[in-house]
Amino acid sequence: MLRFDDRVAIITGAGHGLGRSHALLLAERGAKVVVNDLGGALDGTGASTGPAAEVADLITKNGGQAVANADDVATPEGAHAIVQAAVDAFGKVDIVVNNAGILRDKSFGKMTVEEFDAVLAVHVRGSYLVSQAAYPLMKAAGYGRVVNTSSPAGLFGNFGQANYSTAKMGLVGLTKTLGIEGARNGIKANAIAPVAWTRMTEALLPAEFEAKFTPERVSALVAYLVHESCEATGEVFTVGGGKVARVFVAEGPGWKSDDLTPEAIADNWGAVMTEQPYVLTAADSMKSML
Ligand code: NAD
Repeated sequence: MLRFDDRVAIITGAGHGLGRSHALLLAERGAKVVVNDLGGALDGTGASTGPAAEVADLITKNGGQAVANADDVATPEGAHAIVQAAVDAFGKVDIVVNNAGILRDKSFGKMTVEEFDAVLAVHVRGSYLVSQAAYPLMKAAGYGRVVNTSSPAGLFGNFGQANYSTAKMGLVGLTKTLGIEGARNGIKANAIAPVAWTRMTEALLPAEFEAKFTPERVSALVAYLVHESCEATGEVFTVGGGKVARVFVAEGPGWKSDDLTPEAIADNWGAVMTEQPYVLTAADSMKSML
């Protein structure tokens, strides 16, 4: 059994849904958990200490160790306070699961800059800020595990979610670079793109999905990714309904010419669009252009 005894985990947005499920699972397996949640509505408005406190209480009642925190991941002060809560209660941070999220769906033409910025602030800035606040501690310890929460809507696009899909694909870049930079200090970062029945999706998914797409079926992957035995880093996985799959950013062989013109590109479009074999790193991509 993969356990987390003596490990300290921060789970953001853990007052509801997926984060709550991640927190309960890690705590059940021995982790000391900071249950962070701002406690607002789905669109990020409002705040309450209730949801984080409720989950932390439940963990404690079940015999685990947890503290509640209701700071905002999207501000530097909030992110530092979340990490400080872990240090004050448990002395360190081994694991950060960036899960907090909001929605402000609107079709592209109608989306306001406020709706765009608010979503990027929680998902992208929030994940960057909380991870960065924990980073010096992880570096000093030579150990860290980070999971960022992307989305199929970001990886593949989705109508009405220009802000959300931009944020969720942004997290892929953050994850890949943190995986590269963290390597020499034993810090591994991966991203998940989940599907689960939560308050975020209950109005969107068919009713029969509720029993199959449980948050617990996502938390199982999160727990594996943040375990010390997991070697993966910089990876992205879709997960939902009991299925886990690697998603990769890849480049095909392409087509090249010393006399590249718009017409030549049009004439060779088939070769440009060829999918195999794949290029998987920025260095491979550069080499293939030489
Ligand atoms: P949820 O609304 O139940 O949980 C999100 C939590 O984040 C809420 O409890 C909310 O209070 C908290 N939160 C929001 N803004 C915050 C902030 N600034 N600081 C701290 N906490 C904040 O929704 P969920 O479905 O459990 O979503 C969890 C994560 O999974 C999100 O990042 C979401 O985008 C992502 N996701 C979910 C699905 C799905 O199918 N449910 C699919 C793809 C991605």
